[in-house]
Order: sequence, then C-alpha cells, then structure tokens
Amino acid sequence: MLLRHTPKEIIKRSALTISPAKTCQPIGAMYAALGVHSCLPHSHGSQGCCSYHRSALTRHYKDPIMAGTSSFTEGSCVFGGQANLLQGISNIFTIYEPDIIAVHTTCLSETIGDDVNQIVQKAKDDGKVPEGKKIIHCNTPSYVGSHVTGFSNMVAGIVKGLAASTGIKTNTINIIPGWVEPSDMREIKRIAKDMGISIVLFPDTSDVVDTPQTGKFKMYPDGGVTQKEMAITGDSKATLALGSFASEAGAKQLDISFKVPFKVLDIPIGLSATDRFIESLSSVAGVKVPDSFVAERGRLVDVITDMSQYFYGKKVALFGDPDQLIPLTEFLIDLNMKPVHMVSGTPGKKFMERIEEVSGDLFKTMNVQNGAQADMFLLHQWIKNEKPDLLIGNTYGKYIARDEGIPFVRMGFPILDRIGHSYFPTVGYSGGIRILEKMLDAILDHKDATCSEIEMELVL
Ligand code: SF4
Repeated sequence: MLLRHTPKEIIKRSALTISPAKTCQPIGAMYAALGVHSCLPHSHGSQGCCSYHRSALTRHYKDPIMAGTSSFTEGSCVFGGQANLLQGISNIFTIYEPDIIAVHTTCLSETIGDDVNQIVQKAKDDGKVPEGKKIIHCNTPSYVGSHVTGFSNMVAGIVKGLAASTGIKTNTINIIPGWVEPSDMREIKRIAKDMGISIVLFPDTSDVVDTPQTGKFKMYPDGGVTQKEMAITGDSKATLALGSFASEAGAKQLDISFKVPFKVLDIPIGLSATDRFIESLSSVAGVKVPDSFVAERGRLVDVITDMSQYFYGKKVALFGDPDQLIPLTEFLIDLNMKPVHMVSGTPGKKFMERIEEVSGDLFKTMNVQNGAQADMFLLHQWIKNEKPDLLIGNTYGKYIARDEGIPFVRMGFPILDRIGHSYFPTVGYSGGIRILEKMLDAILDHKDATCSEIEMELVL
C-alpha cells in the first residue's frame, strides 16, 4: 500500500506534476556523449547536478559513468560560470586526456545565461584546447523537455561539432539509433552487417556502458563512434533517424550542413516497425533483404502465434519515452492486445498524432497524455478506474504494480532495481521475441502466484 493515498477521482491539474514520467535533460545529453569514442561528458553547473546525472546512468547501466563538472559555487551563480568552465576544460585535457569534451548546460547555468558557445571559443582563443582535441556542446535547460530532449540536443551537437564531408559521396548510411540500450545499438549494427550495408551508427554506447570485465580499467572504453567515422557522415548517401523525438534533430542538422537526405522511422521495436526498418534500410542502400531475415521474422511470427491465446484482448497500461511507446503500442495492437492507458513526460504534438495513427479506432477508447502533467500519479488514477492486465514501463512503475496487483514488465529508462536489461536487445525480430517472453512470463507468473489451488496447472 505504498501509494494508498492516490485517489480514484481525477481532478484536472494545470500547474502541478506529481511523480513525473521523465527525468532531466542533461542525463540524455550525457548518455548521447558517451556514445562518442574518447569523449568525456561535462556538466556545466553544480556538482549536485552532475552527481545526479552520473548516478542515474550508473544505476541503470551498472557501469561507472565518468563526467566532469564546472563545480559552481555561490560566486559562479552570481558572476556566471565562465571562469569555472575555462579552468575545467584546462584541467580535463591535462589530467584526463580525452579526445573530446562534450559540454551540456544545466538549469542553473541556463538561468544565469552563460553563453557556452562564447566560452568554448574563448577556451580555443586562450590556447586551452590542445591540437587535435575538440569541444562539442549543447544547451539542456531542464525546466523544459525531458531526458529525451537532452539526448536529441546532444546528438545535434555531435553533428555540429564532429560531422564533416570530403565532398566525395559514398554508399554509407548514417543511422541515429535514438535512446536505446547498448545491446540494441549492437543489434542494429549486426542487422546492417548481415545485410552487407556499410553504416555509421551514432551515438553508439555499445562497448562503452556495457564493457567486458577484463581486470583492466579503461577511462575511455573501446566503443563509441570515432571522430574519423563522424568526419565522413557528410558524405553518406542518407541518414535513417530512429525515433523522431531523439534522432530527427541530428538528421536534420546533417541535411542542413551537408545535404544528406534523411528519413525518420520508428525505433524497430516489434514486428511492423522492424519490417519498416529492414525495408527502408534495404531500399536506401539498394540491397536485397537476405533470406536469413525471412527466417528471423518467421521465428518471431511463430512465437506470436504460440502466445496469441494468452495475449488476446489483454489490457495494457504503459509509460515511458515517446520513441519507444509508439512502436510498442503498435506491437501490442499487432498482438491483439488493448493498450488502455499511456503517459509520457516528454512533450511534443507528434506523440499523440503517431499514437493515433498506430492505434486506429482503438485510440478513441484509450487514455493517452504526454507532457508535464502526464505523470505517474495520473497513470495510477486511470489504473484505479480501469485495471489493466499488464503494466509496462521503467522501475518507477513497481509501486503501482504492487499496490494494484498487476503483472509488470520493466522496459525503458531508468531500470534501477534489476540487472541485465542493457545486455539483451529489444529491437529487431529477435528483440521482439524477448519482449514477448517478458510479457508472457509476467502474466503467467502472476497467474501462478495468485490463482486458486485448483486452477494451478503444470502445463499452461
Ligand atoms: S537542477 Fe536541473 S539540471 Fe540539475 S539535476 Fe535538477 S533538473 Fe537536472
């Protein structure tokens, strides 16, 4: 009864958020920056902000997340953080020797009005940036948007700071994977490789936040997109941006700077979104889809068929990031399940439009809201009024699941109370099978734990 005070009666709110379904912009910027090889993220603000950003990522990925901070004091709050950032840049390049520093702002530095672009220029003019080293940056005021907005802003910052062109067009395809697990990024690279397509994936956190235990500490792990790879993204044939909220801004920036055409797709979660991803990749690269993918798809369809009796008509409540929720909703509907309640703390009109598109007639029967007031409190109230058979979302859903006795599948960011999620992809056809397994396990484990003794069956 952890949330026993949540009332069933819903009162319209306009200026109060209770338990937001999102987190702060710089966390996304930091995660995106980690996807660049030998890059040290730097939080331009107080030590407390940076500690929070680092700990949120460390708790999810279970790997130590390194980052610098401008360590604002009372003086910086009054006079601005330029001196701290200049000193920080100098210290970082001297002591920690990254190739790149990725600076993002915080609520505090944004409120003061620090001009990071000007400060970075001054650092260069003052000779604080060694030869061959780079500073990239973006603005991440956390009183607007969410961690997804921060990720998107840093991806655009990566393009502005590192993308280049030799002037000679290539057949390479840029893929911006959106905020997904490192295992998902690895799976997208595997799919492209099996199709015989040369890609540059950025950001790429595989082998950065899921590094192997070798007994040797590496300040900058082997993974991440390299400066060399980014320097040819302007020559690529096209960019595929997976998820409009996290990836479209970066793709647009490449188009503006180097005229690389782009296509925005959903993250390939589930059958239909994966079909569209494979088809798009095949058509932009001009290659045939190999037979092995027909077999992969067939396995997913086979598992869907085997499980259909358990999923048919089941009501689902879900929450999280828009780029995940859109293809996941489509997948649930493909499975003949019924999404009934959905919240996402990330604002943006496109979310509602896309959810309506993928839901069709079902949309009229669904409770859907995004933005600041789309919080966990509202989701709980909806659930009190119409109980779903399954809840899907990040760790914060466990309180609702426990209080209401609903099977719960952990998916999204952050997952703070389980380990292993970042090692198994949920994208692609095989990722779809993993989602199915997790959902059915949750539903049947709940049945086994709560059914009467005479309903307890060995074989289900
Ligand atoms: S003050 Fe702003 S930037 Fe810092 S942790 Fe809080 S929300 Fe994030």
